[in-house]
Amino acid sequence: MNEQPIPLSRPSIGEKEEELVLSVLRSGTLALGDMGMKFEQLFARYIGVDYAVSVSSGTAALHLGVRALGVEPGDEVITTPFSFIASANCIIFEKAKPVFVDIDPVTLNIDADAVEEAVTDKTKAILPVHIFGYPADLKRIDEIADTHGLGVLEDACEALGGADEDGTRIGARGNIACFGFYPNKQMTTAEGGMITCADIELRDRLLSERNQGRVGGMERVEHGRLGYNYRMSELSAALGVAQFERLDELLDARARVAALYNKRLAEIDGLLLPCADRGSARRSWFIYVVQLPKDVDREIVIRELAKKGVASKAYMPAIHLQPYYRERYGFEGGEFPVCEKVALRSLALPFFPDMTDSQVDRVCSEFTSTLARIA
Ligand SMILES: *Cc1c(COP(=O)(O)O)cnc(C)c1O
Repeated sequence: MNEQPIPLSRPSIGEKEEELVLSVLRSGTLALGDMGMKFEQLFARYIGVDYAVSVSSGTAALHLGVRALGVEPGDEVITTPFSFIASANCIIFEKAKPVFVDIDPVTLNIDADAVEEAVTDKTKAILPVHIFGYPADLKRIDEIADTHGLGVLEDACEALGGADEDGTRIGARGNIACFGFYPNKQMTTAEGGMITCADIELRDRLLSERNQGRVGGMERVEHGRLGYNYRMSELSAALGVAQFERLDELLDARARVAALYNKRLAEIDGLLLPCADRGSARRSWFIYVVQLPKDVDREIVIRELAKKGVASKAYMPAIHLQPYYRERYGFEGGEFPVCEKVALRSLALPFFPDMTDSQVDRVCSEFTSTLARIA
């Protein structure tokens, strides 16, 4: 058998992407041009917000978002330990303290009750993450924020196209929301990110901070505040515009692959699949992560699958147990038991929009037989 290996993820890039990127290359304007603005307009309209500001990564979006909420050194920001590391690092960038609370065992998102208990007089904001594309409990989180006068920054980097429990598209609630376009996301700009907001003064501040703190237009060189180079290139924006035209198709393709997995893996004893949508909430499918049956050695599963040409990954590890966080904040394990248990059992399987039925079948039969063999 010489079957092609199946990767964990793979972007779907077509002719339109090649065409638009090439047109930018030939135009001579590679930064700060019309394509970036076009991408922002398309994005804002799709989400249903007034403003979208493109930046160089999801992490850059989060950093500017934390600054936009006025987070200062010594402040506390309540967030989840079960996420990609950037959602906690962005708090430390501003010398504030990430205050972790445990997660809900079903949705894997931050537990709203625990959020409420963690509020102190140093708390400045709440930073929920829509993990694996499943919407966080925004209704409760917004209520808690209102009660205590806190800001809310949504890390929506995994949730483009999803909807919260009120049926509102993720990013359209009025909170500042951050999106990311790394190649494994629902759509890609190679590297890139976006911040959405409803306030024009905030939009202007974001535009300025991503561009060295400039004020008063590009004709003048005047720096009114501390700024960064968090700009998105025109090449990335072109990729974004082209991908955006296909966004519904890309999201549908992901949902199709997820449905196939759900069906094929439903019968495995002790295996936990991603939770189903509740009420009006809609997951935007980002990756396909299962929790292995208890007593199954995850490292063996990963190794056996790799032998068969099927990629998989222990994903994701708990943020507070990363060496940097252990050292800096003294975490030792045991602090957030739900998160830690989930992090130990989670396995990401290959997942991308162009995945064929037979590729999903192959992953599922190799996975099923591996589990049966090592049980
Ligand atoms: C992808 C992602 C980001 C942003 O990542 P970048 O690589 O900086 O674009 C942030 N938070 C979460 C939860 C993510 O999945």
